[in-house]
Amino acid sequence: MSTQIILPRILQVGAGASEEIPNILTSLSCARPLIVTDKMMVQLGYASRIQAVLNGHGVHADVFDDTVPEPTVASIQAGVEQARNGDYDCIIALGGGSPIDSAKAIAILARHGGQMRDYKFPRIVLEAGLPIIAVPTTAGTGSEVTRVTIITDETSDEKMLCVGIGFMPVAALIDYNLTLSVPPRTTADTGIDALTHAIEAYVSKKASLYSDSQALAAMALLAPNLRRAYHNGADREAREAMMLGSTLAGVAFSNASVALVHGMSRPIGAAFHVPHGLSNAMLLPCVTAWSIPAAPERYADCARAMGIATQQDSDEQANAKLLAELHALNDELKVPGPAQFGIDRQQFMDLLPVMAEQALASGSPGNNPRVPDAEDIAELYRQLW
Ligand code: NAD
Repeated sequence: MSTQIILPRILQVGAGASEEIPNILTSLSCARPLIVTDKMMVQLGYASRIQAVLNGHGVHADVFDDTVPEPTVASIQAGVEQARNGDYDCIIALGGGSPIDSAKAIAILARHGGQMRDYKFPRIVLEAGLPIIAVPTTAGTGSEVTRVTIITDETSDEKMLCVGIGFMPVAALIDYNLTLSVPPRTTADTGIDALTHAIEAYVSKKASLYSDSQALAAMALLAPNLRRAYHNGADREAREAMMLGSTLAGVAFSNASVALVHGMSRPIGAAFHVPHGLSNAMLLPCVTAWSIPAAPERYADCARAMGIATQQDSDEQANAKLLAELHALNDELKVPGPAQFGIDRQQFMDLLPVMAEQALASGSPGNNPRVPDAEDIAELYRQLW
């Protein structure tokens, strides 16, 4: 049986990759970009730096900087208007997963119209939007190499998963220099997000030899460097490893799917505005413990790839080390539980049935090695307290 792998056409990887943007535009025959970003990227000077580099090559780029963290239907509307009303031939998506996901939604809606809800899973979006050149500034989501965008419908508090080759950027410029300014909390949340992508891609029912190779390589880069990047943001070696690991994890999960952690994480994010990486981090230890019995050898491979178990360890020993490590990581990276984050316990419990239903409907739990029903999911949510 063969596997279809979908990737951007160009990956430019390493220090200074983002400065190559004029060459990338030339190779894509694009000359009129709209930069879709957030206010932080403007404040840090990253947007003006890209504009200046392009200006030096005679290319003018407008900026849309009104994207918001965990983008909503309303937040992308102004971007859709601007993209429609200008004569843009591509979008430069600059920022973390939020601006990149916003750009993906804007690129499709500007060209094909309709509402974001029309594009949500189980529809598979095959039509091409405006071409996207993604420039990630966090080492986390892998959105620069995925065929996925996640947009929250604020009227129903649903994080809509939208999937298909139509959302795949044509190019990604993966420049770890841009992550040196990421503060520790975001470094931790995004780094655990990337690690979760790699683990879930590897244990996914849709994993292939190809996605396995990317997932294992990602774990080997991410696991030893996450604490380093968190404690010392200026550690370039750690930042470089995290950035590449995040991209490889993105390639892995985009071609193998994520699983139960992500399925359960989105409803928490939508209902209680928990950043995506943080809700993954809260869930990763308990969902892993629940899932291990269905694929002990796969999880043991993860522990070995992360460098926390040896080839001599039995699968059982390796999995015990994996669980201990996931708990230790959350402690060291100060991942709060739901109560510490400020979530009201009663409100959480009242929403359990809706969250369990939304998690199941996203399709992600079906890829988990141990497939849950709604009551299993509700019970796992209860374990967070
Ligand atoms: P984010 O983009 O929301 O950024 C978090 C915060 O960090 C923001 O305030 C941002 O301005 C700031 N920031 C970003 N880069 C910075 C830098 N270099 N220096 C200083 N501050 C910086 O966070 P994220 O975790 O990268 O993205 C989360 C979003 O990505 C969520 O909406 C999530 O659903 C989505 N996501 C998408 C995919 C996908 O495949 N499309 C996968 C996982 C997550």
